[in-house]
Amino acid sequence: MRLANLNGRATLVTDDGLIDVEKASMGAFSSDTDVLVGQLDSLAQWLHDTSPDVTDMTSPAALVRDTGLGPVISQPGQVFAIGLNYRTHALEMGLTLPVKPMVFTKFPSSVAGANATYPIPSAKTDWEAELVVVIGKRGRNVGADEALTYVAGYCVGQDLSDRELQLLGSPAQFSLGKSYENFAPIGPWLTTTDEVADPNSLEITCEVNGVLHQDSNTSDMVFTVRELVAYVSSICEIRPGDIMFTGSPHGVGQGQHPPVFLKPGDVLDTAIEGLGSIRNVGRER
Ligand code: ZN
Repeated sequence: MRLANLNGRATLVTDDGLIDVEKASMGAFSSDTDVLVGQLDSLAQWLHDTSPDVTDMTSPAALVRDTGLGPVISQPGQVFAIGLNYRTHALEMGLTLPVKPMVFTKFPSSVAGANATYPIPSAKTDWEAELVVVIGKRGRNVGADEALTYVAGYCVGQDLSDRELQLLGSPAQFSLGKSYENFAPIGPWLTTTDEVADPNSLEITCEVNGVLHQDSNTSDMVFTVRELVAYVSSICEIRPGDIMFTGSPHGVGQGQHPPVFLKPGDVLDTAIEGLGSIRNVGRER
C-alpha cells in the first residue's frame, strides 16, 4: 500500500486513483495517518476484503507534486537520524567510518510534507537525500533478523542541514543545525514494507536545480536498515510513528570542490527507487 496524508486526511494512493480511508471504511478507520501507521495489517486486510472504489481519479504521478501532501507522520514521538552511514559520504566529509551507528535527532517540529519549502538560515545550508524508515510496532531489543517486521514502511526524505550551526563547536552537535522549520520533509507517501523487497537495494538520487549531485544506492550503507533498527531498539524503545533518517550518500554540497550551498529559489528533487520523489524549494528564512 501507499498511504498519504492529503490535506490532513489519510488517503490510499492506488494506480487507479485515491481512496479516502475514513470515508471508504465508513469510519472504521481513522482519517489520521499517525494513527493508521500502527494498524497497517488491519488496513491491508480491509482493503483486500472490501476492494473499495476510488474516491478520486488522481494518479500517483499527478499527486506527487501536490502541495496538500502533508507528512505521513506529523507528530513523531522520536526522530532518529544516522550520521556518516554511507562509506563514500564519510570520505567526502573527511571523517572516519563509525564503528557503531552515529545517532542524533532531528527535532519533531522540523518534519514537513513532500513539497514543503525550506528556509535558508545560513550561507552553508546543505542537502542530504535519505531513505526514511517509519516504525509500525513497539519493541525493545529487536533482533536484526526480525527488525523489518517492526517497520511500517518507507519514505523519501531530506535531512536539510545548516553546516554552520552543525559544525560550530568542537565536538560538533548535529541536532539543532538539522532542525529548522521544514528541515525534515518526508514523502511523497508511506510505501509499506511488502512493496519493498530489500530496503538496502534502492537507487537514491538528489538533483539541485536539475543537476544531479547525489546518485547512489542504499546498498552502500555502512549499517543496514535491519542493523539500525536493532541497534536503536537495544537502547530506546521504538514505537509506532517513530521515524528514522538512515544517512545520506556522497554528493552533498559540503563535499563539492569547492563546496556549494543552497540559496532561496533552489529546487531540490530527491527520489528513491519505488518510493517516489519529493521537491523542496528554498526560501528566505
Ligand atoms: Zn543526514
